[in-house]
Amino acid sequence: VAMSQVVTRFAPSPTGYLHIGGARTALFSWAFAQNQGGKMLLRIEDTDRERSTEAAVTALIDGLKWLGLDWDGEPISQFGRASRHAEVAHELVKMGHAYYCYCSPEELDQMREEARAAGKPPRYNGFWRDRDPAEAPEGVKPVIRIKAPLSGEIVVHDHVQGDVVFKTENLDDFIILRSDGTPTYMHAVVVDDHDMGVTHIIRGDDHLTNAARQIVIYNAMGWTVPEMAHIPLIHGPDGAKLSKRHGALGVEAYRQMGYLPAAVRNYLARLGWSHGDDEIFSTEQMVEWFSLEALNKGAARFDFVKLENINGHY
Ligand code: GLU
Repeated sequence: VAMSQVVTRFAPSPTGYLHIGGARTALFSWAFAQNQGGKMLLRIEDTDRERSTEAAVTALIDGLKWLGLDWDGEPISQFGRASRHAEVAHELVKMGHAYYCYCSPEELDQMREEARAAGKPPRYNGFWRDRDPAEAPEGVKPVIRIKAPLSGEIVVHDHVQGDVVFKTENLDDFIILRSDGTPTYMHAVVVDDHDMGVTHIIRGDDHLTNAARQIVIYNAMGWTVPEMAHIPLIHGPDGAKLSKRHGALGVEAYRQMGYLPAAVRNYLARLGWSHGDDEIFSTEQMVEWFSLEALNKGAARFDFVKLENINGHY
């Protein structure tokens, strides 16, 4: 059987410089694509218009280029695909897998209160799930919610985390299209990954619970769920989530320090991937040896000692 070509993607939100965590995700997505003779695409997740800036897009692109992580084709703007996201949401309604919800903020508050009082997690209770839209209040612009399965499990088959089981009772009918017609992050990512032909999603494990919800959308559309690898986040030497007090987090800082791109690639690779006891390897060797299975399951420790003198610069 001929295997289809591997397609990975790097999907940063343009809200700041390219930081260590993002650069590492990009490196792994790139190395895997290279190893497989496939390609990596670049998607700029600029749907959040308040937080996205052109300067950040430029900084991300410059950072990737400096690191030598080239992508295939033009960068894709997620915001530019808004009408496609809306189209799929409406298609899901037609298919009976999603529905219009007309609840007011007050009604939603009340719903949460009632759930809390009953000792349940505060979630949407499916009020409009089976209701006739003819009962819709006048002048209210609805959101679109997807019907999450009412029972059973969603299993994320993850190359790093193994099979991660989510009980569907913990997924409510979440919003895929807002009342102003814009997509939620959850929905946009699925539509884009599908349309771009992404076969392998490699990203931080802060997206693992999102993966379960995203699978609900894939299943509803009858689309193939891509292979997934959720990599543990990088922690500081103290074990806490990586933050500025741990040292310079921007790739740009290393560039200004005079580090060579190859050295930074080697350093990033070792934050979450290993090949035996090898500490120094060329990028060619990394590409040759790269596999998702060799991604580390434990959180990587960021060793900032050598870089203390630039602490606070980025
Ligand atoms: N834009 C998301 C982020 O920067 C990544 C989304 C994804 O990889 O699915 O965290």
